[in-house]
Amino acid sequence: ALPDAVVVMGEFGKVEWANKAAQSLLGIHWPQDSHVRVNNLIRDPEFHQLLHSPISKNRVVFVSSPIRSEQQLEVKIVNYMGKGRLLIARDMTQTIKLQEMRRDFVANVSHELRTPLTVLHGYLEMFTTESPVEQWGAALPVMQQQTHRMDAMIKDLLTLSQLELGEKPLEHQSINVVELLHSIAKDAQQLQQYQQHIIELDLESDAFLLANSDELRSAVSNLVFNAVKYTPEGSTVTLRWSVSKNNACIEVKDNGPGIRPEHVNRITERFFRIDKSRSRDTGGSGLGLSIVKHVLHHHNAELAIESKWGKGSEFIIYFEALEKI
Ligand code: ADP
Repeated sequence: ALPDAVVVMGEFGKVEWANKAAQSLLGIHWPQDSHVRVNNLIRDPEFHQLLHSPISKNRVVFVSSPIRSEQQLEVKIVNYMGKGRLLIARDMTQTIKLQEMRRDFVANVSHELRTPLTVLHGYLEMFTTESPVEQWGAALPVMQQQTHRMDAMIKDLLTLSQLELGEKPLEHQSINVVELLHSIAKDAQQLQQYQQHIIELDLESDAFLLANSDELRSAVSNLVFNAVKYTPEGSTVTLRWSVSKNNACIEVKDNGPGIRPEHVNRITERFFRIDKSRSRDTGGSGLGLSIVKHVLHHHNAELAIESKWGKGSEFIIYFEALEKI
């Protein structure tokens, strides 16, 4: 039942016994591989070094699994019953992936916060108390914009972290989706700079949905505001609510430029933006769709993205069972 691979090695590192996990992690089969030298089965220079070094409890090496190269194993050798040695291997793939994600995340956050700070810093260095008012006047809106950006990003980060921690117990209420979509459409229409867009509602159902009101509003608003922000003036954005036998869907469709196929799967990644400068102009942090995904996860719902380059995009939220409605 042990999840770690365990191999008992005798003289010359020959296999004397191995557990089930040794088969799936290291490809070492017991009893077929009995008396085969371990270094013939695990061909990794670091492992060979470990095998020929004096035993030290704290020494570990990382090797790729001989049967699945994408699987990363932590391997150590300890003394066992007199002259024997025990090889222990643990699957660390997930832990290593998480460590990488954390590193990338910290690097991304630092970079994203640093950019607006550099702008502010630049202006502040330029000015002295004697600088003429006109000079300040021109710089202030830019400085203000940059602080807004930082503020928006920190808000998004806090939302994400709260969603991830799942600290707040989710209160679900019966939501009037028709009302919700009307209200979000109104908000979208009032977004500054984007008032030339046409927002349409296609409400096939008047069913209510059991959901957390704030989270659902935030997820749908994110999709609708994106549809407005990333499409040219005069584009049409359609919000649709439909219920079928198997599921209920909220769809947000636009007839903008669409998203290239190679970007479709990546846009829900944190900080991923197709056009960084455009996203910055629109105040985007690249965190919006990550937030949407988390919220939907809380609601056992899924997001599907369909987009044809040049023809527009469709973001569809699928809510599962009908008894929730
Ligand atoms: P942001 O904060 O940058 O808007 P999101 O996570 O909400 O971040 O979106 C990620 C990226 O996906 C955006 O920067 C944009 O490039 C792209 N995107 C999102 N929605 C659309 C859309 N409706 N049409 C075209 N591109 C979109």
